[in-house]
Amino acid sequence: MPARPADKLLSHYDANARALPWRNPPGSPPMDPYRVWLSEVMLQQTTVATVKPRFRRFVERWPTVEALAAAPAEDVMQEWAGLGYYARARNLHACAKSVAATGGFPRTADGLRKLPGIGDYTAAAVASIAFGEGTAAVDTNVERVIARLHGIDRPVAEARPDIRRLAAAMWPRDRAGDFAQALMDLGATICRPKAPLCGECPLAADCVAFASGTPEAFPGPKAKAIRPHRHGEAWWIERDGAIWLVRRPEKGILGGMAALPGPEWATAAPTGRAIAIVSHGFTHFTLDLHVTHRAAPPDSEGWWQGLATISEAGLPTLYARAIEAALAAREARADAA
Ligand code: SF4
Repeated sequence: MPARPADKLLSHYDANARALPWRNPPGSPPMDPYRVWLSEVMLQQTTVATVKPRFRRFVERWPTVEALAAAPAEDVMQEWAGLGYYARARNLHACAKSVAATGGFPRTADGLRKLPGIGDYTAAAVASIAFGEGTAAVDTNVERVIARLHGIDRPVAEARPDIRRLAAAMWPRDRAGDFAQALMDLGATICRPKAPLCGECPLAADCVAFASGTPEAFPGPKAKAIRPHRHGEAWWIERDGAIWLVRRPEKGILGGMAALPGPEWATAAPTGRAIAIVSHGFTHFTLDLHVTHRAAPPDSEGWWQGLATISEAGLPTLYARAIEAALAAREARADAA
């Protein structure tokens, strides 16, 4: 009997699995659920290369879910700085507290899904990788692989129910966790969005997209969303080599993160002269942040942060770039004078 595509992929994984700090080698007992869960949350919208050193640092600082639960929220947000999508960090902390209070992670996707910040994909990934439950963990990479394998040329948003059904049908119950990780590796390294390496793929003989000669054409392209544009103003208030920083409100974008003070972001550009302007793309809108000088003393709760220690403030990328741009502009002005 010819080998099933799932078996071919597992054999390929046994020989080629990527060594990652949150993963044990194929066939060995699974990594502890804390590390599996943490890696899955960190990897949402963030690349493996970026996550690797941050993951190591995180588990060194908080080696167990109980240790993370006991950490002050500000320390967790600070450790997360630069990884983006800060609601993840808030949910991560809330989830750790809930898990620590109940004595451990639920062992099923249904149980995991009830925890803060754990959606369908993360629940399925943790249940299959840490506990061996045979639930299909289907993220964007897996959707692409399955769509190509079956020659689905509709956009993923339209074909999603079919893709999920097909993924569930091929998911082996005996090595569910290894299979989840094998599909992740295939999607990341071989069945890439652009220029898939079909010549190296263990599924080539079974793949409809490969047989068509244009594998990249599968699945169909998604409709382009037009993101609205906003403007923000960030006040530069400086005294004795320090600038005034505030903590953003807990709820909303960059909630709980360190920031330059300023009014709410709006659709109209601020009228004051900008020292520097940085552009940033969020999921649902783009932003131009105008850094403007303000001589008035701070009227908000915050703290003076020395410019020499600005890297220790736990600033998210947007504000770190804004400060960098303002300092660069000042240097350029000084050079020109
Ligand atoms: S053969 Fe090519 S398109 Fe098909 S699954 Fe493999 S890498 Fe993807």
